[in-house]
Amino acid sequence: MLQLVAGLVLSAVIAFLAHRRDALTISGVWGAILVGTITVGFGGWTWGLVLIAFFALSTGLSRYRQADKRELADKFLKGAQRDVGQVLANGGLGAFIALLYFSYPTSALLAAFLGSIATVNADTWGTEIGILSRVPPRLITTGRRVPVGSSGGITLLGTAASTLGALFIGVLGYVLLCIEALVGAGNALGLSWIIPITLISGLLGSLFDSLLGATVQGIFHCARCEAETEKELHGCGLRTSHLRGWRWLNNDVVNLLSSLCGALVAIAIWGVIVGR
Ligand SMILES: [Zn+2]
Repeated sequence: MLQLVAGLVLSAVIAFLAHRRDALTISGVWGAILVGTITVGFGGWTWGLVLIAFFALSTGLSRYRQADKRELADKFLKGAQRDVGQVLANGGLGAFIALLYFSYPTSALLAAFLGSIATVNADTWGTEIGILSRVPPRLITTGRRVPVGSSGGITLLGTAASTLGALFIGVLGYVLLCIEALVGAGNALGLSWIIPITLISGLLGSLFDSLLGATVQGIFHCARCEAETEKELHGCGLRTSHLRGWRWLNNDVVNLLSSLCGALVAIAIWGVIVGR
């Protein structure tokens, strides 16, 4: 109970500050409070701090060279404001896994949580840094060159950033578990397997994100800007026409499915190397 209250207070403070700095819309604030409270309340401090690190670094990275990105990929790119859909797409599965962990405290669910957060973190780092690549992206499926910012396009720089993003979550998770073990009871040294599992599942999850982007994600065309976009309503204000992919499979659904992929890969590897 106390943990839930602590989670609520911490999430509310962070969400409010993020809103003040234009990183979250009002709906995004509610989403962040929900996800943060559940994750801290049912998962614990390591879970909560991993989530907060992901959120803070993603927000910072979105702003890094924002003007260049606008010029390169999407001149209608709107700040780095995240709405409730984006918040739930990135952190919703993690919060759900925290709920499960409360009833079944197994390290398999810890691995699944880190795998899901590593996936969305890898995806964010890959996107935000990859977009600055001087080499144009290639489609993950066919290798065809595609314009910067295209769904499903990958670059060496972006993939390297994704790898680092996944590794970061693994190392952070392990360090926090060790600190938790130092101040409390328990032994975290035996949990070092968490780093390679998180790295691999996060990287595979983010590649799955690109795969969905290249194949079945809904892609639209703006007649005014003569540009492909993931949005049904383009930033210029014009309603776009459906070009390919499944209409309902927008970026948020793709992110959620990828985080699920990352979590499942983590559980699968856990099953092989850690056991019951
Ligand atoms: Zn347009």
